[in-house]
Amino acid sequence: MEEAKERSLHFIEQIIEEDLKSGKHASIITRFPPEPNGFLHIGHAKSICLNFGLAQKYGGVTNLRFDDTNPTKEDTVYVNSILEDVKWLGFEWEGEPRFTSDYFDILYNFAVKLIQKGLAYVDDQSAEEIASQKGTPTEPGKESPFRNRTVEENLELFGDMKSGKYREGEKVLRAKIDMAHSNMHMRDPLLYRIKHAAHHRTGNDWCIYPMYDFAHGQSDSIEEITHSLCTLEFEVHRPLYNWLIEHLEIYPSRQIEFARLNLNYTIMSKRKLLSLVEQKAVDGWDDPRMPTISGLRRRGYTPESIRNFSERVGIAKRNNVIDVGFLEFSVREHLNRIAPRVMAVLNPLRLVISNYDEGKVEMLETINNPEDESMGSRELPFSRELWIEQDDFMKEAPGKKYFRLAPGCSVRLKSAYIITCDGFDEDENGNVTTVYASYHADSKSGSDTSGIKAKGTIHWVSCQHAFDAEVRLYDRLFNDENPDGHKDREFMEFLNPDSLSIVQNCKLEPGLASAKPGDGFQFQRLGYFSVDNKYSLPGKPVFNRTVTLKDGWKK
Ligand code: ATP
Ligand code: MG
Repeated sequence: MEEAKERSLHFIEQIIEEDLKSGKHASIITRFPPEPNGFLHIGHAKSICLNFGLAQKYGGVTNLRFDDTNPTKEDTVYVNSILEDVKWLGFEWEGEPRFTSDYFDILYNFAVKLIQKGLAYVDDQSAEEIASQKGTPTEPGKESPFRNRTVEENLELFGDMKSGKYREGEKVLRAKIDMAHSNMHMRDPLLYRIKHAAHHRTGNDWCIYPMYDFAHGQSDSIEEITHSLCTLEFEVHRPLYNWLIEHLEIYPSRQIEFARLNLNYTIMSKRKLLSLVEQKAVDGWDDPRMPTISGLRRRGYTPESIRNFSERVGIAKRNNVIDVGFLEFSVREHLNRIAPRVMAVLNPLRLVISNYDEGKVEMLETINNPEDESMGSRELPFSRELWIEQDDFMKEAPGKKYFRLAPGCSVRLKSAYIITCDGFDEDENGNVTTVYASYHADSKSGSDTSGIKAKGTIHWVSCQHAFDAEVRLYDRLFNDENPDGHKDREFMEFLNPDSLSIVQNCKLEPGLASAKPGDGFQFQRLGYFSVDNKYSLPGKPVFNRTVTLKDGWKK
């Protein structure tokens, strides 16, 4: 991307360049470490683009590692969706995908090593008791009565934990560090807990599982990750990771924290996204209103637009909130360059061109994308009866600045003729049922000699050639800027009841009948639309509105 070359280096790039220059590393290895307990969201996309992007930029590699240490929440369905999403974003991981569960033996041996060094012990207390002894940031914690067990006793008890002798919660393994440490994470943190649960990969091999803090950093070391990038919450965990690296004498991966991506009007916690799915507030993880990568894909976002967005929001050291409009801007900008323009009428009103021969059909040429000549042109059938948008007609022109159709007004039909409105029919309720107009035969687009000035241009579809389709219009899923930020109210209370409207019997130009899932278009004057990958049938596409157009056609 052009801008990427122009901007100055961000702090992580500076660190990497120094490390390469000083010879600390000959090349870099980064990793993307998702927990397979949900679908990836736009925040993960930022992390993916950062990790894979840095390796690309500096000629290194990136591992994809599933951080699967919690058997009760993880699932192969999530693993597969994550693989698909990372690939779709355009990235390739080094070798096979890796799993923290592949390292369970190594991690177990690490724990044994700590016990042998007198740096870990088995605690018989309950989670509540342990928590009550933690102290506060200003007061030291209390040492466990089991803290001074002998190495032999700890080895035996830990072995018994592993072989299934104890119930869940009966015992845990803790690091023996310092109960008075100013950093709460250093006050004898838990390393292993008992869970009699089947794991999505290791089945019933294990009934003890490492805590995240004993798995994540160690897995980085096992893979010799040079730069381990994570979000700011983990800054306070770093002293513990470094303590483990020192005492286990393992590869010293360097952890660097950056600010997570936050978007307004958006929820970005997998747990909360899961509850939207479970409570059926949305149509699955890939609902086009979801901030998930699969939702954005179904909505019509392109990988390039998401990569550009991630690049542009930049890398910060302080948390901030990005306007979701900026994400929309990125996709609009990309689709403006690549999307073919087509004609579609969402709220049809019949227009009869009284002086056009009945039965006559003319094929009119129209260009596919004014932004890109190489996309060529196509022919559209034009006939006496056309569908136009209801919004493009008024019974009376409201003033001089009105550029659409009303009795006595002239407009250009896009890529066709100038017409002048002669009148309309209405029903007993005053609803307009048909509009009548005359066309000016010498005003054809491209060879207009009529001298008539039409102030506006409107789109249309020939009635006899149109095909009917369902179009889904989306609005923000939440109508509050910070749905998660209210003390006394649940984020669910801020769901926007109008976030989806399904419009049936839209009139589309005939060529669109063969559009395939994922195909994207600009419906002229209406927005960008993409063929839904769930509800479309062959020959019967359903369209999702990806994003509205910023402007209609300006004169
Ligand atoms: P969530 O809080 O949404 O459940 P998580 O951090 O628990 O996300 P992980 O699967 O552990 O989810 O995340 C994988 C990687 O993605 C981590 O390195 C994490 O730091 C990063 N990540 C998660 N959310 C964001 C975000 N909003 N912005 C940037 N990176 C993120
Ligand atoms: Mg996490």
